[in-house]
Amino acid sequence: MTTIYEVEHLHQPDGWLSPGYLEVDAGGTILSVRADRPGGPVHHLAGFGVPGLSNLHSHAFQRVLAGRTEFVTAARAEDNLWTWRKEMYRTVDRLTPEDYEAIAALVYLEMLQFGMTAVCEFHYVHHQPGGLRYANAAEMSDRLIAAASRTGVGMTILPVLYAHGGIGKPVVDTQKRFVHSVDDYLKLLDTLRGRRTANRNLQVGLALHSLRAVAADEAKAALAGMRAMDPQARLHIHVSETTHEVDEVQAGLGARPVQWLLDNIGLGPEWCLVHATHLDDSEIAGAAASGAVAGLCPLTEATMGDGFFPLVEWHDAGGNWGIGTDSHYSTSTAEELRILECGKRLELRRRNVIARSEADGRETHSGRLLFDIALAGGEQCSAQGGGALVAGRRADLVILDPNSPVLLGHGPQTALDAWILGGTRNPVRDVMVAGRWVIQGGRHADEERILGNYLAAVARLKSR
Ligand SMILES: [Zn+2]
Repeated sequence: MTTIYEVEHLHQPDGWLSPGYLEVDAGGTILSVRADRPGGPVHHLAGFGVPGLSNLHSHAFQRVLAGRTEFVTAARAEDNLWTWRKEMYRTVDRLTPEDYEAIAALVYLEMLQFGMTAVCEFHYVHHQPGGLRYANAAEMSDRLIAAASRTGVGMTILPVLYAHGGIGKPVVDTQKRFVHSVDDYLKLLDTLRGRRTANRNLQVGLALHSLRAVAADEAKAALAGMRAMDPQARLHIHVSETTHEVDEVQAGLGARPVQWLLDNIGLGPEWCLVHATHLDDSEIAGAAASGAVAGLCPLTEATMGDGFFPLVEWHDAGGNWGIGTDSHYSTSTAEELRILECGKRLELRRRNVIARSEADGRETHSGRLLFDIALAGGEQCSAQGGGALVAGRRADLVILDPNSPVLLGHGPQTALDAWILGGTRNPVRDVMVAGRWVIQGGRHADEERILGNYLAAVARLKSR
């Protein structure tokens, strides 16, 4: 049983089909894409059909902190990532499995509503407060998987290995919820790989929290163990988010973080370097050439005051990148890409900072370019099997409403420029994940319950 969609304008890797015919099988895979109308019944979809984007970095629970740390007091005269982390740890101390699931469901719902069809969840709250294990060692992971299943978003779960409170330092009390031995960590990965039989849109990858929290021998043992289970596994790490972190790694390990990874672990296309904000020329050259993806979280990095990724230098070195929404000050594809592009325009005092003119005179459009790069980077980091509307890929389809004020009067050539850089309202109307509609007319079938559960979780967190 296959379904055929006639999409008014269908995004393709090299342009658009207007209209494009998309044939999807019962398992949610794209069988064919063509310009000629096939026989049989056809479902017509007005608007612009683009591939769903994989969000490459999320800590879903941090959504409850958005808007709650935007003030100063005498006690917080200096406010940065590290003072914010104290507030985040206060939340961690009170978080239950029920809260974790309720918050994640809201975040995943929001992602879907902005056209993100998969999420890489960098998940580090594993145990009870104080570090006591839950009866089910995968309790908190299972809560995230349940939230993904309820909303329909694809998930690449990245349980995080966390062992130290800084280079050579023991963990503090709050961090005890995060800690595994390498053996227990690998057992958790193995358990979660077993969950894929019940959720076909689930992938399992490895995450090292950072070079501050994982020692070299632990990183190597975990990587070897994961590669023995899955040689293709995706590998994520927080790296070089702040100059403070660069200095700590330089002092403790004798090299800047990305340089240390290049020299001691080795990087390749399976790696996602989350943030990678502070890079020197040698790190840019080495990491870009390795094929690793820079996992940019522009709005989170902006709210933390981290610094600004060297986008133009990285792009010109041929580096891959994608976007994540990290602490979820925003879950909007357009907002994340816009602050990246427009922030650089402010800094560099010029327009269209990464678009380059084509020798044949064709126009290169920044909105389209930013979206296509983030699309490829997201798929590379999530291994979800989507990322393009072509035969053999998962049918993750996002329909942008041509009647949204953002897109009124636009055709395919400028539609993505308008969405990403040109307007305020969210034009995402319908979202399909693996052949199944999860958002229609901007709404999710389970939306009321998801919002209600989130509100209840926030109330519980405030009262504890
Ligand atoms: Zn993060």
